[in-house]
Amino acid sequence: MQIRKRITPVNFTKGRGGRKPIAIVLHIMEGSLSGTDQWFKNPKAQASTHYGVGKNGEVWQWVEETDMAYGNGRVSTPTWGLIDKDNPNLYTISIEHEGFTGQPWTEAMYEADIALIKDIAKRWDIPLDHDHVIGHYQIFGKKPNCPGTGLDWKKLMALLNEPDLKGVCVKSVESPDIFWVDFGGVSHKVKTWESFQEFFKGEPKIVSRETIGDLIKGKEI
Ligand SMILES: [Zn+2]
Repeated sequence: MQIRKRITPVNFTKGRGGRKPIAIVLHIMEGSLSGTDQWFKNPKAQASTHYGVGKNGEVWQWVEETDMAYGNGRVSTPTWGLIDKDNPNLYTISIEHEGFTGQPWTEAMYEADIALIKDIAKRWDIPLDHDHVIGHYQIFGKKPNCPGTGLDWKKLMALLNEPDLKGVCVKSVESPDIFWVDFGGVSHKVKTWESFQEFFKGEPKIVSRETIGDLIKGKEI
């Protein structure tokens, strides 16, 4: 996945004080990606997250995963079972999301989140369950609406635990002009090798359920 690096020179602490990330914390911006970008670069903010996901699926990064961002430092009536005495920023990775609480996550946001969360989880050996992928409200009870009802947790957790849908292009010996994109055992026709290459940018990638739906309906890619 493509990540736009926008590392902030302020609002983070180098290192993690010997801890490693054990969970990923999701937030809602109550604003835009660019507004949040400006805020996290303002020394007065004393706020940051590692990543931000835009409504269009763009992913921006403000803090390196090996450093401590300032998203989850305040603790109030926590309901997260794995919280301990240290500052939670030391052992979490946080992701902001564009928009306002209650606004439904766009499909592009779900797609970006799935790819990003899976990547992070793989790097740090974080299980993909609701004890390890949590909402800010589970640490800071005074913000019950972060990330709020716009995120369908059931859907997110189900998508996170689906097997990766990698496209593999197969050419038939019997009909060499037809290519097939194989998504985990389900094959779909694509028109040309060029269209395949353009679509997959030279390598198999994870695609949306909508795209697979389009392919099933016979839409060419
Ligand atoms: Zn938050």
